[in-house]
Amino acid sequence: MLPPRRRSIACAIFLLVCTGLAQAADAPTIISAARIHTMDAARPHVQAMAFDAQGRIIELGDTKALRKLHPQARHIDVGSATIIPGLIDAHGHVSGLGQASLTADLTGTRSKRDVVERLREFAERNPGESWLIGRGWDQNDWPQKRFPSAADLDAAFPDRPVWLERVDGHAGWANSAALKQIGRDLRGEWQPDGGRIERDASGAPTGLLIDEAMKLVDSATPAADDATLERRLSLGMQLAVQHGLTGVHDAGVRIEELRAYQRLADRGELPLRINAMADGNAAAFDSLCKDGLYRHPNGRLQMRSVKLYADGALGSRGAAMLAPYSDDPGNRGILVTSEQALADAITKARRCGVQVATHAIGDRGNRIVLDQYARALGSAAKGDHRWRIEHAQVLALQDLPRLAKLHVIASMQPTHATSDMPWAGDRVGQQRIAGAYAWRQLVDSGARMALGSDFPVESVDPRLGLYAAATRTDAAGKPSGGWRPQEMLTAAEALRGFTLDAAYAGFNETDVGSLKTGKRADFVVVAQDPLSIKPSQLRMLDIRATYVDGRPVYEAGSTPAK
Ligand SMILES: [Zn+2]
Repeated sequence: MLPPRRRSIACAIFLLVCTGLAQAADAPTIISAARIHTMDAARPHVQAMAFDAQGRIIELGDTKALRKLHPQARHIDVGSATIIPGLIDAHGHVSGLGQASLTADLTGTRSKRDVVERLREFAERNPGESWLIGRGWDQNDWPQKRFPSAADLDAAFPDRPVWLERVDGHAGWANSAALKQIGRDLRGEWQPDGGRIERDASGAPTGLLIDEAMKLVDSATPAADDATLERRLSLGMQLAVQHGLTGVHDAGVRIEELRAYQRLADRGELPLRINAMADGNAAAFDSLCKDGLYRHPNGRLQMRSVKLYADGALGSRGAAMLAPYSDDPGNRGILVTSEQALADAITKARRCGVQVATHAIGDRGNRIVLDQYARALGSAAKGDHRWRIEHAQVLALQDLPRLAKLHVIASMQPTHATSDMPWAGDRVGQQRIAGAYAWRQLVDSGARMALGSDFPVESVDPRLGLYAAATRTDAAGKPSGGWRPQEMLTAAEALRGFTLDAAYAGFNETDVGSLKTGKRADFVVVAQDPLSIKPSQLRMLDIRATYVDGRPVYEAGSTPAK
């Protein structure tokens, strides 16, 4: 509960008509707005909502009627604002987001020189760290569009190890000092499973490492202690609630991170709901098999799924394709996990009753996952397993209807389409692009679609996802009319993907995802009505406040709690 002073600030900020603030702590609350979009088909629009002191919705309807029914309730009126269910990002990386705010941000750099300049500034501000870590570069944004090398960094940073992840997290760029920290000779012909060490004509590593090869550097960087893990998660979650998120599906959580989340949950420091997916066939997944699916008693943390990887990403040509890349003949991409290892993990999940969410981007990656899901599930494919494909980015047209048929959820990220659209067609060619970022075809085929951002690969801001889904244009509104506009979603469909269907993908739809009696009062106050403004205005939606369990976890204009 907010202290009275902050409550009155909130009232002033929202121009609320706040009454009865002195009422008993266990009194219900009525919140009224110009409109409330409930996302409940039985009652899509109401004016007011009442929830109890535990944050459960007890009634929805007309303001007057609710006040009459609950005369003791405290009343918040948000005036001309709109209330929507809390937004849920079905695929993000919370620790990565927190870490990104503690590492050099290289997104939007226009050249290698630009990267070095930003690193120099960052290094000056953070002199204590032994390594210089950065993230977000994309060679497609540079004049030559070629992968960089260690030599590009060595002059500026001869001694301090530098490690810079590409924007998609599927390639890394090290300087020579960082390569030296790896306890293995990187020269020669050998390659790690599921990865690639780029080498020059003499067989020496260039400093560019793809997919699994990145682990060579990752394992040489100093490990984060408990306090650092908690700090990263807290920073990431704070950014999430500031953008209207009340839930995140954290796509790949190691056991140490789960423990950090649990400590935060025990201390009441989770501002939103985390659906943590165990990262790969490792310790966290083992714990689900051994101890059963996990849920914290306060309802803000759960782990009941495993995140697996089939292939890499399109930007670094690591996505596994059925036929070679159109702009790189001979290259069909990479399987990050061998088909056998993937099959073993999926079989194990089926045995343990664990939901599977597998990263698949290329059409070969997606086909392998669909084949494996079909094999492991057998006749249970028709049941309520809710297995997911993360990204489902490029599908062979004949595979597209298989998601609906197998009840597989498409967990997709609208901003990936608008980030990739300048070059996606070059990668896969005009024929295969017909099954890429195919939201409309998937929805029309009957597949359930949960939406997210894949932050920090993309921005954590779900408004950008709603905007990309409903316009298929970049921030400047280009291309006019949208890129492959036949795949566009309506604003209502996009909102559903970020609320009810994201909740469904986490087995949480009886608790959250829509505003309905008995559900939790997780909601967002927005100045405009997202379903009646032009889709092009969705990115400018004004987030006024974010509520979880009936309490504000973010209010515009107030300093976020540390
Ligand atoms: Zn991801």
